[in-house]
Amino acid sequence: MTAAQANGEAVARELDAADPLPTRRSEFHMLPYDGTYSEIAYFAGNSLGLQPRATAAILRQELDDWARLGVEGHGEAARPWVSYHENLRGTAAELMGARPTEIVVMNTLTVNLHLLMISFYRPTAERFKIIIEDDAFPSDSYAVRSQAALHGFDPDDAIVRLAPRAGEHTLHTEDIAATIAAVGGELALVLLGGINYYTGEAIDIPAVTRAGHAAGAIVAIDLAHAAGNLELSLHDWDVDWAAWCNYKYLNGGPGAVGGAFVHERHLANPAIPKLHGWWSTNPATRFQMAPTVDEQPSADAWSMSNPPIMAMAPVLASYRMFAETGLANLRAKSTRLTAYLEAQLQPVMATRPMRIITPADPERRGAQLSVQFDAIDVGDLTARLRANHGVIADARQPDVVRLAPIPMYSTFHDCWRAAQALAAEVPSA
Ligand SMILES: *Cc1c(COP(=O)(O)O)cnc(C)c1O
Repeated sequence: MTAAQANGEAVARELDAADPLPTRRSEFHMLPYDGTYSEIAYFAGNSLGLQPRATAAILRQELDDWARLGVEGHGEAARPWVSYHENLRGTAAELMGARPTEIVVMNTLTVNLHLLMISFYRPTAERFKIIIEDDAFPSDSYAVRSQAALHGFDPDDAIVRLAPRAGEHTLHTEDIAATIAAVGGELALVLLGGINYYTGEAIDIPAVTRAGHAAGAIVAIDLAHAAGNLELSLHDWDVDWAAWCNYKYLNGGPGAVGGAFVHERHLANPAIPKLHGWWSTNPATRFQMAPTVDEQPSADAWSMSNPPIMAMAPVLASYRMFAETGLANLRAKSTRLTAYLEAQLQPVMATRPMRIITPADPERRGAQLSVQFDAIDVGDLTARLRANHGVIADARQPDVVRLAPIPMYSTFHDCWRAAQALAAEVPSA
């Protein structure tokens, strides 16, 4: 290590020691690394968050209650199963900037997109189009295309894809608004990522919502990459509905149960069609087993099944950590970490065929920086970062490596390591 590197490393360590929000790294299962450092520098928490140490105990409790109580656990478990989703509602509402009645934790993300489109994508011959990002996550693209087809429309005609300007990577709010206005009376639904998974761009949710409403459309936000990452105010922003997953920034475990938000405005409107199940009905009378549903004015009207306890317990463990630390504190630290990572990458990028395509404005991004490479196999690069440096980042085809420092457990030192690793693995141009 050169003197300059040693000095850089010492500065990173000092930043970690001095940061006003201490890391909770020791409360996570950091991945072991057998190299210069004993732990992996993990930058893929935007894809799958690491496991909190508290998760096992909560899950163990549910397994024990099941072993001990059988069916009686529905009412007598330490956290009664029949109302288990209630344990998650409050924190989810805080994370979303929503009222508790606007929130339900259920299913998984793509399923929730479909269930909400059943209610809020009701196309007519005149108004049937859906706007998404051109580089939308494939599941979202498949979901909207299949919804259009379900209603008898040609997906190629019904789906409008928002592309960046020539030579650019991210979108301008005025271009999104202009496309919305141009589709105008044909526009049924806007479904955009709060943060784009590929570029890391955060859209201006309130501005997009106003533009969509001005065109008479429903505005929905996929919060997969925004949940637990950005501070959100879905209620005040007047978003119609949203869905998210709990396994990325929210550390709820692989395939964890997801969540849905429906604005209060729509809750007391039983005319909105829904696909019902027994968890859609009034919990006070659910076990009277009536043949017709008694819908309550809450997002629970969209839930169908009894809660999956083993898929929800890890989410509860993680939500407790978010409630303790506070999203505002996490976001502030996230901004510091990401700015530091960016600053560390700058001299590396200066002499190499690579650039950050995520917006430089901290308001237009969350934790993630997407680094684009010319003529470098990004899958091979991330494998070398992992093998030679203990840095886990993910490759997204065709040409991007995503790095997301996670404020709950990533450190300035991790960011320093990532920049060093890229400098070592990417040849200077
Ligand atoms: C991660 C992600 C998904 C994943 O969907 P699942 O139904 O949870 O498998 C969908 N959409 C976006 C935008 C994502 O980032």
